[in-house]
Amino acid sequence: MVKITALETHDVRFPTSRALDGSDAMNPDPDYSAAYVVLRTDSPDGLCGHGLVFTIGRGNDVQTAALAALAPMVVGQSVEAMIADLGSFARRLTGDSQLRWLGPEKGVMHMAIGAVINAAWDMAARHAGKPLWRFIADMTPQQIVSQIDFRYLTDALTPDQALQILRAAEPGKAERIERLLAEGYPAYTTSPGWLGYSDDKLQRLAREAVEEGFRTIKLKVGLSLDDDIRRCRLVRAAVGPDIAVAIDANQRWDVQQAIDWLWPLKEFGLAWIEEPTSPDDVLGHAAIRRGVAPTPVSTGEHTHNRVMFKQLFQAQAVDLVQIDAARVGGVNENLAILLLAAKFGVKVFPHAGGVGLCELVQHLAMADFIAITGKKEDRAIEFVDHLHEHFIDPVTIRAGRYLAPTRPGFSAEMHARSIAEYTFPGGIVWRDLPAAESA
Ligand SMILES: [Mg+2]
Repeated sequence: MVKITALETHDVRFPTSRALDGSDAMNPDPDYSAAYVVLRTDSPDGLCGHGLVFTIGRGNDVQTAALAALAPMVVGQSVEAMIADLGSFARRLTGDSQLRWLGPEKGVMHMAIGAVINAAWDMAARHAGKPLWRFIADMTPQQIVSQIDFRYLTDALTPDQALQILRAAEPGKAERIERLLAEGYPAYTTSPGWLGYSDDKLQRLAREAVEEGFRTIKLKVGLSLDDDIRRCRLVRAAVGPDIAVAIDANQRWDVQQAIDWLWPLKEFGLAWIEEPTSPDDVLGHAAIRRGVAPTPVSTGEHTHNRVMFKQLFQAQAVDLVQIDAARVGGVNENLAILLLAAKFGVKVFPHAGGVGLCELVQHLAMADFIAITGKKEDRAIEFVDHLHEHFIDPVTIRAGRYLAPTRPGFSAEMHARSIAEYTFPGGIVWRDLPAAESA
């Protein structure tokens, strides 16, 4: 029997705050980081599974400790049994009665569980010799349904209803796989719009993004209304009327403040306003949506589990949502969220950009296109062009589109050298910094 022999963790941090990459209204100086996990096995072919939680610096040690706390539940387990029934594996981790107290199903522990579940999916897809999107796409509707924990969902989505959605997507699957491989999946870019960038840099990067083929650009907003009006005007002038412009407030406002703030921005024909307020405020999002119509309202990158997504949909609080590959309980919970979104007819524009998030979430969006909604041209995956060089199977963007990964697995594996150099605080990148900066 092949067994999992180790759950290895790494606290990996990139000093992105030095260039204000990633700066927004609530996160002015992030150091993009990964609490990184590897499941090792005694398989003669070196089979392993990689996963990560994205954080933005301080606290990555806490997140890494949460990963390590899962070792007793995983080490010594049969690889064959885990791969054969990833639904039960995920339920066992998320349902552990003692760990569950730390959430339930939210926060640091749930994110750690999600990363280990994702590492298990990475291992399963590698074992099958398929990229993860294809591994999911090749499952039967019944197999996909068996991945999902329907507890707390059945008032909105039953297993039978999920099965109907998946069966309806069966015709045309092979043709969609061909289309995905030929065309890729639409991307949108946030690279031009970080709040710390100058007006010149914003306009230059926006123009370059359009030249590169992106059809949607997103700006960070929420520090100063005058600045936001000016920046929206500058971007509109730079890209013209045919490019979609979205904005992202990263939870900056109270409910009425959001409605008031967004009023003068209506004239720019925004594609959506993302995270206007607290990610936990379902009714607040519904009120904002009514207050700023027809501007579409969106949230999701901090939505901590499928139950919150269910409520956002039931309350008609959002026009579209982000999913995040590394916040909820792994692939299994994201499949539940994708099916809920399909049931309610809400489009998914996956969150990415942080360390490894583009690499991971592309697989989920592509699986959705093949096996769940059958749609991709009316939605897009976020793209930010940094830190991809640290991954063994980095995303490939061409003409504003994600090309489908072809290597087996979930694209989560980082280069060993990157892990060593950026390990906090002992890696070479951090070792020689003044104490004030490394703290
Ligand atoms: Mg966002």
